[in-house]
Amino acid sequence: MAPSKLTTVDFNTFANIVNGEPRSAKNKYNGIDPTTKEKLWDVPVASKEDVEDAVRAANEAYRKWSKKSWEERQEALNRFKDLYASYVDDLTELLLKEVGRPKCFSELEIKSCLAFTDWHMKLSQPEPEQYEDDEKTITTRFLPLGVVAAICPWNYPVTLSVGKIVPAVLAGNAIIVKPSPFTPYSALKVVEIAQQVFPPGLVQALGGDDKLGPALVAHPDIQIVSFTGSIATGKKVMAAAASTLKRVTLELGGNDPCIILPDVDIAKTAPQVALGAFLNSGQICVAIKRIYIHKDIYRPFVDALISFTEQLKIGTPKGENVMLGPLQNEMQYEKVKTFFEDSKKNGYKFVAGTDNVEEGKGYFIKPAIIDNPPNDSKIVTEEPFGPIVPCQPWEDEAEVIARANNTKAGLAASVFGKDLERCERIANQIESGSVFINSFAKPRPMAIFGGMKESGIGGEWGKLGMLSFMIPQAIHRYK
Ligand code: NAD
Repeated sequence: MAPSKLTTVDFNTFANIVNGEPRSAKNKYNGIDPTTKEKLWDVPVASKEDVEDAVRAANEAYRKWSKKSWEERQEALNRFKDLYASYVDDLTELLLKEVGRPKCFSELEIKSCLAFTDWHMKLSQPEPEQYEDDEKTITTRFLPLGVVAAICPWNYPVTLSVGKIVPAVLAGNAIIVKPSPFTPYSALKVVEIAQQVFPPGLVQALGGDDKLGPALVAHPDIQIVSFTGSIATGKKVMAAAASTLKRVTLELGGNDPCIILPDVDIAKTAPQVALGAFLNSGQICVAIKRIYIHKDIYRPFVDALISFTEQLKIGTPKGENVMLGPLQNEMQYEKVKTFFEDSKKNGYKFVAGTDNVEEGKGYFIKPAIIDNPPNDSKIVTEEPFGPIVPCQPWEDEAEVIARANNTKAGLAASVFGKDLERCERIANQIESGSVFINSFAKPRPMAIFGGMKESGIGGEWGKLGMLSFMIPQAIHRYK
């Protein structure tokens, strides 16, 4: 039976959600439709009072919610999932408007949260660890932390909010979601919908200006900040969290290498690599950001990359066969342009795309491939988070691994080849939180997702990721 909607949700008005109620504000802000640069709906800027009220309500809700059993929490999340499923079409329409992503990929984001929640419905409570000797028994169990501040970026506003709400609530916490000011709409609606299932204060949302994130990080009655965003902001969050010794989980940026072995099936692999680099116009934390191709197949592989990339249709979310949308916002568009300008200024060879980004109606940029820029170039050393990627040849395995690891980031990596032993040997030496063999990066709910080096602290998703929303407590019993 199709799940039924309990109340009417208006997808044209947006409010913060505090203690189970929509809340407006005197000050408003708005997102921009990246395909037209037109203003979208107004959204209230959360005030200091909203923050205080939300934190108070969250602590009250947490006290009761944490006493519920794991199964009771799963049951509530299951109801949330059914309710959310009834809004898939509305949420897809909203999401594609605010991010500009093609409809099929926007729908995929919305639906992936159903699979994510489903996986958590099968997850059992973390088992306590037991120790016993003649003198004593020790039980180490996992408790919820309290109130979670979920600070989210703009590239996947729903996946990255629901990806924090579900494990946080299942673990027994309350959560306050802070969406990015660039993409507040769908996350606010998901939290509004959630009010039909969860008690007031358990799942709240506050959107706002630059002061809001720091206010949540500094708040003494929030126990953990679950942050997803850039390395630069992650460092600020970690420094600010020190004053209250708040826990932080930092899911940050990357500069993901992709190593291509000489034995790959070029026709099959090149499209996968191009998709790994350019899906969502490169605005994916785990997008392929550096491509290392074995010298024996360098030229034919680059040619195959070019011909697949040139077929990727760019356009508006509902355009026929559109694969790539615009950059999501002006700040990101301007940032990505600096990678084009730098490559052009230094005379690097554009083998796909153009060295001249033309201003248009929306923030569209044609995907570009740079042929063999130097190791110390901006395009090799920094994360563009946009549709531009460098290729370089390699010959010696140890040398390419060193090049792949020659970065402060360590989020994900991929290795493509038929020689699986060699793929595995290379994967084992890559310094990143996830490595994908014969696939571009596809984070999944059943595995922890986190970064090594400056790509993060801790990780979320999967059985291990659940523990980041919990705190261990050891009970020592003497006989
Ligand atoms: P960002 O760091 O600019 O912003 C992220 C969030 O932090 C936003 O909600 C923003 O309002 C908030 N914020 C800004 N300053 C803050 C402060 N001082 N204190 C607290 N909060 C603050 O990142 P972005 O531009 O929204 O996202 C793009 C970046 O996110 C890229 O680097 C990308 O690689 C990374 N990212 C990482 C993952 C991951 O899971 N590792 C996933 C998606 C995106």
